[in-house]
Order: sequence, then structure tokens, then C-alpha cells
Amino acid sequence: MIALTGAPERVEGSAILTEKFESFQGEGPWTGQRCAFVRFSRCNLKCGFCDTPESWDWSRYNPSEASEKAPVSELVSWVRERAADMMVITGGEPMLQQPAVAALARGAEGVRVQVETNGTVAPMRDLASRVDLWVVSPKLANSGMSYSARVKPDALAALAATGRAVFKFVVTDVSRDLDEIAQLVEEYELGPVWVMPEGTTRERVLDGMEALYAPATERGWNVSTRLHILTGAQ
Ligand code: SF4
Repeated sequence: MIALTGAPERVEGSAILTEKFESFQGEGPWTGQRCAFVRFSRCNLKCGFCDTPESWDWSRYNPSEASEKAPVSELVSWVRERAADMMVITGGEPMLQQPAVAALARGAEGVRVQVETNGTVAPMRDLASRVDLWVVSPKLANSGMSYSARVKPDALAALAATGRAVFKFVVTDVSRDLDEIAQLVEEYELGPVWVMPEGTTRERVLDGMEALYAPATERGWNVSTRLHILTGAQ
């Protein structure tokens, strides 16, 4: 843990958020690490298995209740007050508000920054170099989205070119999804690869991990749990 002291430099702009909270990272390479989460509102996809529909599904949520506009300077102060050495910027799709993401990442100097993105938006150069870990989750056919909506080759190439990206795929059906992942990985030269079971219950996550372990190992991929589901954390 680091303690950040002193006033942050002036940070301009605002962001539309769903929520912010302290927890630990439940997924991907940095699983288990304590962090400050900043969840941006809005998304450019509508995945059937989405576990954060409150960030975009206005048929079920009222945007004026499910989101709030916040000055980035206030977010920076909030992150610094947490004294966590890692911030996770997530969504929705945070890259739809890239200037705000960049301002937040710059303002939280000294804090490691992880951005979770669906991989459809290429990062600006100054953001690409500030982010310590890009967790890119290209969506598969199991999302219900069209290929052209969910796979953006230029954005995937730009994220891969940062040298700090991992590619994490949500698996709903091991017998069907892994070949599709392999095809995307080969076509767009993505890696390292993480696969993670879809699911919002302990049983589903544990069953999914058990089913993924052997085939993922055979393919040279990593397996991610969903620790927040297993522990009931936020
Ligand atoms: S890209 Fe992520 S946040 Fe957006 S709809 Fe799909 S699962 Fe939900």
C-alpha cells in the first residue's frame, strides 16, 4: 500500500460513472489485489450475459438514477484518499469516455492503473503509455453481438501494441467457445490469453473453472476465476 500525500495537480473534465468502491480485483492477472474501482457508465455493446447492465441498459434502468456525472478532479481525490496502490477503471465501456479516463489515470500519479475494456476502441498514445495493464475482453458470438460490432481489428492491434495488454475471454460453453477464441487469437495475434467462466453464482463459476482447466492448459492459456462471486464481495 502507498500513502499519497499532497494536493493533486489540477485535473480538468468530468466523467459519467455508474459507481466507485474499494474492493479487490476479482478477475484476471491481478486477482486478489486490493484496489479502488471506478466504473464508468455507458457501453457500445449489449451483451446477453452482461453483469453490469445498470451501466447501459436503459430498458431496465433509469440513466439519471443509475449514473452520475462527476468531476475527474473529485475522482482523483477519492482514489488518492483510498491509499490503494492500484486503480481499476472499468465499465460499461470506459474507453467511450477516453479523455476522462486519461485525465483520471494521469491525476492518480503513483497508482498502478488497470483498464478493463471490450477492445473496440483504440487508446490514445498518452493513455496507452500511462496504463500499466490493459485487460481486453473481446466478445464472442455467445454475447449475442454481431462480429462487426464486437471485433474491431484496429483497436485490438493498438491495444496489443502497447505491450501491456492481456486478452480475457468470457466462456459460456467450453465445447463451443474455445475454438472461436483460438481463431480470434490466431487471426489478430492476441496474447497472453485468459479464459474465464461466465456466471454470477458460486456453482457456475466453480463448475466453469473445472471445465476450463484442462483444455486451457492444453492450449497454453491462463484461467481466471471470479473471486468476487466466490466471496460475495462487491
Ligand atoms: S461489453 Fe461488457 S459492459 Fe458492455 S454489454 Fe458487454 S459485458 Fe456488458
